[in-house]
Amino acid sequence: MTDERRFQAFEARDAAYNGKFLTGVVSTGIYCLPSCPARRPNRDNVRFFRTPEEASKSGLRPCRRCHPDWFYRGEEWYENLYERTVACVRKDPAVFAGISAIGAAAGISRTALNDLFRVHGHESPAAFLRRVRVEYACRLLQTGMKPADAAAGAGFEASSAFHHQFLVRTGLTPKAYAKLRGADRFTLRLPAGYRFREVLDFYGRDLESVSEQVFPDEIKKALLLDGRAAMVEIVFGGSAASVVVDGGNAFDAHRAVVRMLGLDADASGFERHCADDALLGAVVGRQRGLRIPMTPEPWEALAWAIIGQQISVKAAVVLRRELIAALGRPHRSGLRAHPSAEDVAKTDVGTLRRLKFSRSKAEYLIAAAKAVAGGELDLSGMRDLSAKHAARLLRNVRGVGPWTVQYVFLRGFGFADCLPAGDAGLARGLERIAGTRPEAAAVQQMMARYAPYRSLATYHVWASLKQGDERNAF
Ligand SMILES: [Zn+2]
Repeated sequence: MTDERRFQAFEARDAAYNGKFLTGVVSTGIYCLPSCPARRPNRDNVRFFRTPEEASKSGLRPCRRCHPDWFYRGEEWYENLYERTVACVRKDPAVFAGISAIGAAAGISRTALNDLFRVHGHESPAAFLRRVRVEYACRLLQTGMKPADAAAGAGFEASSAFHHQFLVRTGLTPKAYAKLRGADRFTLRLPAGYRFREVLDFYGRDLESVSEQVFPDEIKKALLLDGRAAMVEIVFGGSAASVVVDGGNAFDAHRAVVRMLGLDADASGFERHCADDALLGAVVGRQRGLRIPMTPEPWEALAWAIIGQQISVKAAVVLRRELIAALGRPHRSGLRAHPSAEDVAKTDVGTLRRLKFSRSKAEYLIAAAKAVAGGELDLSGMRDLSAKHAARLLRNVRGVGPWTVQYVFLRGFGFADCLPAGDAGLARGLERIAGTRPEAAAVQQMMARYAPYRSLATYHVWASLKQGDERNAF
């Protein structure tokens, strides 16, 4: 390639040449990618380089508009920056007075920080900071600290903001949360317009379930709390949910129930985003207040996704029931808690074959359980990883494909911008709404405009399938 050709590509701001060469400008002392949006310099002042190192050796520094240094660092550098930043804020959120402080710690601009958190964390830096502060305050309150001290310790400047954000994310006031110590019941305040019917539908997907029982206004679910079988009984009434815990401590039960009811996520941003939307506007309008119920902990979502791969929900529900009946831990209520990864890791393919698992499904489920139980796949820390990094780790497990990753992100971790594009229920729901059944590529296209809220958009489409429809259950 001649310098004349390079200069032409630079003049044309042709992004196809990014990575092929760098353009140095001796008059300004900076070097750029061919696609840099900045004004073009005089040809006489332009030099070409193959690498950022060559450009630096000539005394040039990277341009702050096109960031050629970032381009050459590659994707993993950003994943790492995101994860380091998250860990830093999580360790002591009070050190970060606001978003600018996070940007300064990461060494990037406000715009770059927004991009970093949207791509790798599926949330804004502000939402992340609010979430982490509340989680930090929860831990302080669990140690017996007074609410005012916990607020300060977590970095809240005003007690009103602390009270409000704590209540929004946990359904409890800080004072009520502190009282969970030694308690066996609590009452959650539900957000305005909360749709508990859909939540009951979800937990009632298996009428013969050995793990859950659903009544007109009530759910009973056995689950593991700190490794022991316990049961939560959730009764909906007005704008509250009363919870009774049988076994296990109430702090753990509270965290599980907040996840199960999808309380720790804000639906209003998505609802505003969709208000005039031609495709989903009407559906979202009818289902206003819908939240995504998550599994009590991520492993249950991973197990359910693997069980559900390639088969109907009806068939998956039966396999899940058989698995829980055979390997789940009994609770004195007669219900059984979903088996832990450790429980499943101890079983063998023959046992699962007798429960009517196919050989490959049995192998995949056991492989995933072993990876989790053995510590190679740390689900407990995964929400703090870059979503891209987390996806690679999940896909290292045999039998886990792109659909499973997106499903687990959505149901097990609460990542907000997931799209299980090949999902049959999603395609059928979109067919009902739009009139024709889209292929996976068309689903990607149709759903693109709901970024960064594609998880909730997907869930609205699922929920729009009428009750009793087999796929509604997923
Ligand atoms: Zn530039």
